[in-house]
Amino acid sequence: MQIKRKTNFENFKVAKKLSPEALIKKVEKSGLMGRGGANFPTGLKWKMSRPAKYLICNADESEPGRFKDKFVLDNNPEIVIEGINIAMYALSTKQCFFYLREEFKKYKEKLEKIIKEKSKYKITIVIGAGSYICGEETAILNSIEGKRAETRHKPPYPSERGLYDEKTCVNNIETLARIPLIFEDDFDNELTLFSVSGDVQSPGVYEERQGITLKYLAEKVGAIDPYAIFFGASGGCIPFQQDLILSYKEMEKTGNFFQTGIMFFNNEKSVPDICRSIIQFFNEENCGKCLPCREGNFRLLQLFQVILKRKWTKEEFQIIQDLIDFVPNGSQCGLGKSSTIALKSAIKYFKNEFDKLIE
Ligand code: SF4
Repeated sequence: MQIKRKTNFENFKVAKKLSPEALIKKVEKSGLMGRGGANFPTGLKWKMSRPAKYLICNADESEPGRFKDKFVLDNNPEIVIEGINIAMYALSTKQCFFYLREEFKKYKEKLEKIIKEKSKYKITIVIGAGSYICGEETAILNSIEGKRAETRHKPPYPSERGLYDEKTCVNNIETLARIPLIFEDDFDNELTLFSVSGDVQSPGVYEERQGITLKYLAEKVGAIDPYAIFFGASGGCIPFQQDLILSYKEMEKTGNFFQTGIMFFNNEKSVPDICRSIIQFFNEENCGKCLPCREGNFRLLQLFQVILKRKWTKEEFQIIQDLIDFVPNGSQCGLGKSSTIALKSAIKYFKNEFDKLIE
């Protein structure tokens, strides 16, 4: 696995031989895209953020089905700190905040030791507030400032006005871990970490190229009678299709959003029931700022709790379908906008399972 490679800060030394501008060009040329989910080009983000007063390493991973950041922290925290050093040099930044989700606080000591021994820049570990929304790139700013972790309107983007109203670059931890690898001869910008779980023989994190087929991944992880595939909580779902190509472009064609948290389910699982737990997740984790997201997800959860006791009326199922569009259309941030993608695609691809639940 490239991500496990020990580069021992040698690539930071190579990076420093370039000017910050030339370094950013190298990152742009590498084709590296952000690994936090938005797939934004890293070099371009750096160009827009520079000179950045602050860099934030976002390690607030907490979506169901995603555990790749934890894998990086377990296997190669040194390369993240090296990536941060390269980024800080390129961005002319003097301060980095390393935002660790609350459940990752066990890594704090290990990271501080590496920072003390190897980092040339000031990196401060911040323990998260224990909420999924803190991983959103503007909510994380509020959280670090000690405010309630609500999202901010964009624009302005953090690259224009971020932490304490200063220019800020927010990068995902896997993105930063890949920065030193750009200097390796065999760097491959398509490699990404897939978190695989569900009905499989070998759940875990796999480093594979974007563009592999679902069949390839299913065989590799030993998927057991795959029937439904969910892409995290926010990416949507599809029936198992052997030839589906796992990439942003191809996933869009299915009406879903590419997500590297891949959950395989066999047909003993109920798709509406999986949707119920996803709705429950978004109902608990939204920040409460906008009504469509807050109340819409709450109402959806109430309706999904109905089927634990009785079938839906036709009217109730119509309300569910209305809420599927109402919630994202009126939501301010990505959480609300993606909270009904799984349900929408589940009804599209597994309609028969829902029909059985209607009077
Ligand atoms: S969409 Fe949801 S999570 Fe996002 S700002 Fe609105 S209430 Fe908060």
